[in-house]
Amino acid sequence: MSLSQTQQSQDLHDQITILTGSAIRLLAGDAGVFVVSNEAFDPQSSTEYTLYNLTESTCVHLLAYIRERKQPTSACPLVVDTLPAALVMQLGIADDTIEADEQPPEYPGVPGVPARGTLTMYERCSLFLYDHAGVLGMLHYVRPAGAYSCFEYPEEPDGTMRLFITHLAAGLRSALKSQALVKEQRRLAAIFQQSDEGILTVDTALRIIDFNPAMERLTGWHESEVLGRFYYEVLRPRDRQGNEVGLEGSPILRAFAGQNVVNQEMVISARDGQRFDVSVTASYVGSAKGEPTSGILTIRDITREREQEEQRSTFISVVSHELQTPIAIIKGYASTLARTDAVFDEEALRSRLNAIEEEADRLNKLVGNLLYASRIQAGGLQMDIAPLDLPRLIETVVHRLQVKSPDVKVELNLPPYLPTVMADRDRIEEVLQNLLDNAIKYSPDRRELNISCRATGDEVIVSVSDAGMGISLREQGQIFERFQRVGGGTTSSTQGAGLGLYISRAIVEAHGGHIWVESTLHQGSTFSFSLPREEKAYLPMVVF
Ligand code: ADP
Repeated sequence: MSLSQTQQSQDLHDQITILTGSAIRLLAGDAGVFVVSNEAFDPQSSTEYTLYNLTESTCVHLLAYIRERKQPTSACPLVVDTLPAALVMQLGIADDTIEADEQPPEYPGVPGVPARGTLTMYERCSLFLYDHAGVLGMLHYVRPAGAYSCFEYPEEPDGTMRLFITHLAAGLRSALKSQALVKEQRRLAAIFQQSDEGILTVDTALRIIDFNPAMERLTGWHESEVLGRFYYEVLRPRDRQGNEVGLEGSPILRAFAGQNVVNQEMVISARDGQRFDVSVTASYVGSAKGEPTSGILTIRDITREREQEEQRSTFISVVSHELQTPIAIIKGYASTLARTDAVFDEEALRSRLNAIEEEADRLNKLVGNLLYASRIQAGGLQMDIAPLDLPRLIETVVHRLQVKSPDVKVELNLPPYLPTVMADRDRIEEVLQNLLDNAIKYSPDRRELNISCRATGDEVIVSVSDAGMGISLREQGQIFERFQRVGGGTTSSTQGAGLGLYISRAIVEAHGGHIWVESTLHQGSTFSFSLPREEKAYLPMVVF
């Protein structure tokens, strides 16, 4: 809520207090309360009232007393009765206002006016406030017994009091209405400020008049920078194919034209030029004649939903491709071997059986990785942490690699002393294996790797470098996500489901470390990961 709104509601409250106080004084009262009518018209359960010369606690006694007494109605709008002395004492008005034996004001000739010297009491008066629009509330006030107001002269027609009631009710009604409007304005302002969805409003010339904090977060623009600007120029909306959305497709203009615009998908630009998918709903505020006076756009960022959709379809195509290929090879070789009319020499037999075994291993690895990925997603990884000598582990993995692929040249840069780290040996071996497999897979021309290790104050860092195809800067941000395969031709001709780096990152982060890539397209990549040194290790609770 803005400062001016606070001021506004304070002013309105003062206005009601002044109206109530003036009315009570005009009616010859010393204190009182105006209670706004609620549905049950129960003054005690009403939370909306305005006090005059009474405190909250004394008012409770007065209202409790009145509740048990006769109530005014539109037929008999003023009810007066004498207050018990004990209540007068509780209200705390007797001493300050009038001495018990003070003389009453005189209205000569007015029947019912107490005789001189008899005034020692107070009266409560309840006035039924209503107008043509209905009941507004009750004005209860306390006055010295016999202190008549000018609206009660018997020679005046009954209309005088009714006229007063109508005027007072009209003044109070308009103040209450303004108060209700300010409350509504505050409620809407809170929704506008707190909403998670971007909300912006425009005038009929499509210039921005409101821009909520969610919009600021979404676009990077500050409200003060965009107010008064043409909203098209700020958001630069395009359709999903990248074509500019012309004015005829503008959600606001369509809403102005009476069309129902709900969840229209488009792409908008942030301040830094980044584009993202949004779903837009448009509506307008109309004048009394129904003509649009301003338009409202609610904008929901659906980039994440889009990514998930894309991930799902990538998953299906990658997995089906990765499953179908080995299955087809296994089936092909198996049916060849099963032919009764074919005879194979031992070497041909062995090579086919080897191929079947390799493809079965590939299938096994893929299924293993899929299970691994879903375990990570479901709730973290169980670790078996112990001090680990990284250079020893690296040497073991490299030795195995060279037995399997003797043509790969591996250069090792391991310093003579490296601190131990706290890690799960099998999992870190998996990370190393993934990085080495990738370095070979994505370096079709130069099968040369470099593995190095170094220690910093807190961590030990392992780096695997290749002189392969490299990864563009833009794609470097994606490769640690699930099922992300980048790099076009070479990648699509190599096996893989885009899970290795995702799993590696989960493992390294579960150790409290980091994994990252530095790469130049067509020159090669260096993947590095860090693990906390044994003496510094802390193991975070990782929730994926
Ligand atoms: P996979 O290799 O099974 O596709 P990864 O998660 O291991 O999955 O790698 C994700 C993607 O990152 C790869 O598809 C490839 O495009 C890219 N990538 C990974 N390592 C390298 C590398 N050393 N050189 C070039 N690109 C790489």
